[in-house]
Formats: sequence, structure tokens, C-alpha cells
Amino acid sequence: MTNRQIVLAARPAGWPKESDFRMIETLPPTMGPGQVLTRSLWLSVDPYMRGRMSDAPSYAAPVRIGDVMVGGGVGRVEESNHDRFRPGDYVTGLLGWQDYAVSPGDQLRAVDPALAPLSAWLGVLGGPGLTAYFGLIDVCHPKAGETVVVSGAAGAVGSITGQIARILGCRVIGIAGADAKIAWLTGELGFDAAFNYKTNTDYDAALKQLCPGGIDVYFDNVGGPITDAVLRRINVHARIAICGQISLYNLEKPEMGPRWLPTLIIKRAKVEGFLVLDYVPRFREGLEKLGGWLQEGKLKYRESIVEGLENAPRAFLGMLRGENTGKQLVRIAPES
Ligand code: NAP
Repeated sequence: MTNRQIVLAARPAGWPKESDFRMIETLPPTMGPGQVLTRSLWLSVDPYMRGRMSDAPSYAAPVRIGDVMVGGGVGRVEESNHDRFRPGDYVTGLLGWQDYAVSPGDQLRAVDPALAPLSAWLGVLGGPGLTAYFGLIDVCHPKAGETVVVSGAAGAVGSITGQIARILGCRVIGIAGADAKIAWLTGELGFDAAFNYKTNTDYDAALKQLCPGGIDVYFDNVGGPITDAVLRRINVHARIAICGQISLYNLEKPEMGPRWLPTLIIKRAKVEGFLVLDYVPRFREGLEKLGGWLQEGKLKYRESIVEGLENAPRAFLGMLRGENTGKQLVRIAPES
């Protein structure tokens, strides 16, 4: 039995490339007290991984060259030295880009395949769903009737954020980078309107048309010129959650945008960055809400699936380029 692992081979400058990763084969890890051995079934590839490939200061240490890439996954317990888990259980946690992982049992969460498919625990019932829930509810305090704009709207976080805002009675406008994504948002997901920022590049005109009464809440996943245009249309007492800034992650030189702090004075607006990790003590609350809406059919989700651990770098790079609709996943092994 070998353990295939994808390790960081080089720190990228600008856009990462497949050669920044390398696959190696090792023996499966051995367990210590309180630890659990899992077989990885699903791997989540996420924008934050770009930050962990870099040694720029961040909220977490960079992945070291030669170390297994960090990543959340869903796995099946093979062996357990932890009293909460038995072989055959399904769990989620930071399993890394590899076939087998040994993790402290205390850092794993049980997943219930009866409530939702295993892969959903990396999307709507995983980090992205929880990010959408806490970022929107806790940071933005949306009220029924308000206009909410979501950038990166057809991605894992954005697609859930917009639907929660709809559930709360808001008018929701999405911004995404493909016509098929816009059709999904305004069709199946029930967004009130959306526009394709790649083909409709006059963002000010698009926002003026779609948000005639201004913008009360902005959930920002992308930053850059899209965010600059949204800021020009915010209402008094607007709330802005800085969830992500993906348009900046691969820049080699920081970009100086317009200085919009004066706007915040005039509009008495609140801008707040947040990290979902700070909400760990409230994950149960978030999962109950998200799970309830999912079961009631009020939350819908899509997954983009790439097959095989060896293709994880391709899946990750594709996600950064916008090839995913909804959650980008890698299927590492069959579920049964
Ligand atoms: P995602 O949205 O599923 O995938 C990334 C998407 O970003 C792509 O599909 C692409 O869609 C869009 N994108 C890429 N480059 C862009 C650009 N230059 N301008 C505009 N859009 C661009 O990823 P996710 O996991 O849901 O994450 C979304 C954001 O939330 C990221 O910024 C991430 O860092 C952040 N995040 C933050 C937290 C937190 O705790 N604060 C937690 C999770 C995620 P298009 O086709 O629309 O371009």
C-alpha cells in the first residue's frame, strides 16, 4: 500500500503552474495515540491555497517546500486510536493532498452521509457554506428589502451567499465571469439579476441599471475594479464584508486602486474583513441553519469535479481561472 502525496515543489511568482507541484509516493503514515488514519475520498481545492504557497505574511504559516499541500477533505476512517471514531466512519478535516492521512481525532468532524452526500461537506455544509453564512449574517446584518451585491457569485461561497440573502428577503445581484454562470444564478438560484464582468466591462453602468436604489450590502469575494465600482454605489450605512480578494492573489506587484476611504465617511459605511476560522465555536449553529435550508430545498448547489489526485493541481489552477461553477472538488477514490 503506497500513499501518493502532492507536495509543494516551488513558490510561484504570479500565477502558479503545474510544475509548482510534484507527486511523490511514500508509505502510509503510522498512527500515534488519539490519532485516526483516513483514506481520502474527496479533496477541496480553494483560493486560500494560493496564499499558503507563498511565504508572504498571512494568518497561517506557508506550506514548506517539499511538504504535502494543505487541503480540506472528506475521508473514510481506516483505523482509529480515538474514541469518537471507528473504521468505516466518514470524517472531514485537513487531510491534505494525499491518499491517506493521519490526523489528531480532535481535529476531525464526523460527517453524516444520511443528511447530504459526502462531497457536500466540503461545499454547502463545509467551509464555503459556513463562510457565506457567517460573513453575510454576522458581518453584513442584511435586512429584508435591502439590495445585496455578491461578487464571485457563481463560486462556492458566492452562490450560497446570494441564496441566503434571498432567503432573508433581500434583492440580490450577482457578478460572475461567464454567461452560463449568470444564467444559473438568475435561473435555478433565484438571484434577482446578475451580470458577466468579462463581457460587460462598464461596471458602473451595469450596477446603476441593476441597483437603481443603490447598494446596502456588498459581499466581496474578488476585490479590484469590481469592488471599486460597487463602492461608488453604496448607500448610507452600507455594510461591506471583505471575504476574499481573488483578483489580487496572483499579482506580482500590488495594485493601487482609487482611495475610497472618503466614501466611507460620506456614506457612514462599515467595511469588515473576516475569517471563517474565527467562527469555529459557532459552526454547529451554521450547520444547523444550512442543513435545514438544504433539506427544505431552499439552498441549491453545484459541484465541478475533477477525477484523480494526480489532477489536483489542474483542478486548483482551473478554479483560479474561473473554470468551476459552484464548488471545485477532486474525487480521490470511490466512496465504496
Ligand atoms: P470560488 O468562488 O468557487 O472560485 C474562485 C472564483 O473566483 C472563480 O470561479 C472565478 O469565477 C473567480 N475569479 C477568479 N479570478 C477573478 C478575478 N480576477 N475577478 C473576479 N473573479 C475572479 O472560490 P471560493 O472558495 O468560493 O472563494 C471565493 C472567495 O472567498 C475567495 O476570494 C476566497 O479567498 C474567499 N474565502 C474567504 C474565506 C474567509 O474566511 N474569509 C473563506 C473561504 C473563501 P468567475 O468565472 O466569476 O471569474
